[in-house]
Amino acid sequence: MDREEILDLFQHITVWKKGDQRAPHKPLLLLIMLARVQQGNDRLASYDEIEEPLEKLLIEFGPSRKSIHPELPFWYLQYDDLWELSTDAPFRKRPNNRQPSPKEFRDMDAHAGFRQDIYSHFYHHPTDLTSAAQELLYQHFPSTLHEDIADQIGLDLSTEREKQLVSRTVRDPAFRQAVLAAYEYRCAVCSWDIRIGDTPVGLEAAHIKWVQAGGPDVVPNGLSLCSLHHKLLDRGAITLTPEYRMIISEQAVGDCSLETQLPYHQNPIVLPVDHREYPDQIYLEWHRMEVYRG
Ligand SMILES: [Zn+2]
Repeated sequence: MDREEILDLFQHITVWKKGDQRAPHKPLLLLIMLARVQQGNDRLASYDEIEEPLEKLLIEFGPSRKSIHPELPFWYLQYDDLWELSTDAPFRKRPNNRQPSPKEFRDMDAHAGFRQDIYSHFYHHPTDLTSAAQELLYQHFPSTLHEDIADQIGLDLSTEREKQLVSRTVRDPAFRQAVLAAYEYRCAVCSWDIRIGDTPVGLEAAHIKWVQAGGPDVVPNGLSLCSLHHKLLDRGAITLTPEYRMIISEQAVGDCSLETQLPYHQNPIVLPVDHREYPDQIYLEWHRMEVYRG
């Protein structure tokens, strides 16, 4: 396999789809495994080794759900042609081809990881490993979260390629311009409007529904936010109610910092003059369901 073929596999993993719901299980498990290869671990990991780190990532960076299932990608990645699952004893044929439970994985001492040729390629070409990790992050998460995810699993992303991909995330300058103009170059939450000359500083056009989830580059899917509120929005620490009030998640804790934010809690945001440019309820609802830590 060469570099292009391998990156192609990472670009085309099949992700469980139901409406607009996010399912970041496979990308997150692959990122954990890439970090493990980078750190010189064995090719295959036991289910026990990945369960806890994956559970933690799903809780922090996945949608809020009643139950989380780290066992799903451990099993289903084998259909993506880059994953190998091995066990001491073969799994019995399962009704509906359902995945085994965590207990079954443990009982059978299941191990999984990249195919041998892919593992060897990454071992000999560490920059291609970083590229694969960047591809996954770029495709499944907004750029505000990339460093946080990488830090949590100890993944080192520093390459030239990273810089290329970061510049790719500045996708549509027209979107940025249109959103900032609609909100008169202010943060919709805190009214931050610092400029140097004519250039706003620390002001960004956020997507309410992530580009990675099919959110379009249109003003009703945008919010003009300062860097801090952009990050809080993408991380699910804040969201907007249907009445355009900003609310802070109960899961966001802190003493001094939270106090600076509390005055905005339940506060109406500053909306565009033109009501056709207001945030669309469809995108707001997606954010509350799929990103907000409610
Ligand atoms: Zn702000």
